[in-house]
Amino acid sequence: MPDYQKIMRKLISHPSSGIKMIRSLTARHRKCCVHCGTIGHLHIHSTDTRGIQTFQCQVCKKTFSETYGTIFYKSKIPISSWLLGIIFWITATGGLSAADLSRKINVSHLTAWRMLTKIRKELSKGLGKEMLNGLVEADEAWFGRKHNQDIVMGMVEREKRKIRLIIIPNVKEETLYPHIREHVKTKSQFFTDSRITYSITGIRYHHQTTNHSKGEFARKGGIHSNTIEQIWGDIKGVIRTIHHGISRKYRELYLAQYAFAYQFKHSTNLFFKTLCQLFTPTYCLI
Ligand SMILES: [Zn+2]
Repeated sequence: MPDYQKIMRKLISHPSSGIKMIRSLTARHRKCCVHCGTIGHLHIHSTDTRGIQTFQCQVCKKTFSETYGTIFYKSKIPISSWLLGIIFWITATGGLSAADLSRKINVSHLTAWRMLTKIRKELSKGLGKEMLNGLVEADEAWFGRKHNQDIVMGMVEREKRKIRLIIIPNVKEETLYPHIREHVKTKSQFFTDSRITYSITGIRYHHQTTNHSKGEFARKGGIHSNTIEQIWGDIKGVIRTIHHGISRKYRELYLAQYAFAYQFKHSTNLFFKTLCQLFTPTYCLI
């Protein structure tokens, strides 16, 4: 676990240490011109008061900021404040509201809210590459009421904490099954409650159920879906107590943020993982 207090002190006392920190993590991405794609012919053109460099391509002669293609591009918020915000988010128990963040880094509530929305959007891109495998649980939950309601399908790989949270229009077999096939490896152990629409999964998976309506929540041999049930409880608790409810429009982003934090909760370098995800520009894949 990094010493967050030390990192925070550094960020506060030297405003340019934020950009230096992420620059060291992403050096390999800083070799590519965003205009012509040429690799390895960039010179530092200028450095602004925040320490952010502008590069000039020696081939096309055009310039661009080193933060181009990241959520920090053209942001008026100092990079060090962004990083402090990310540390507060990582170390907050349960979740971090815009009101909390605005107080902690001394920005307006609206600015804090925009920062968190940007972070959530970006983090959502970092999930969903590898398929779930081994012991996988699935379930659905209803969020919100009446016109603000969504059904969310959840799938989680127990051991590696890989998770998918997908908003779905209904719980019919033809809706659920394609998502399962897309995200869960064939022949995995697949645990659900006794909802009939899951019975088709027996074709590709070792499907086992527990009958919640009969009060059965676990059977011998680790057959249960308690992990995903616990996740629903956690998410609903955070939404109710930290964010005081959320609108439908932003639900997907909150789910993505939760999924990212859940997956990497026990990672010793969540801070750097988050920074890599947030700062890795999309224009250059070398
Ligand atoms: Zn160029």
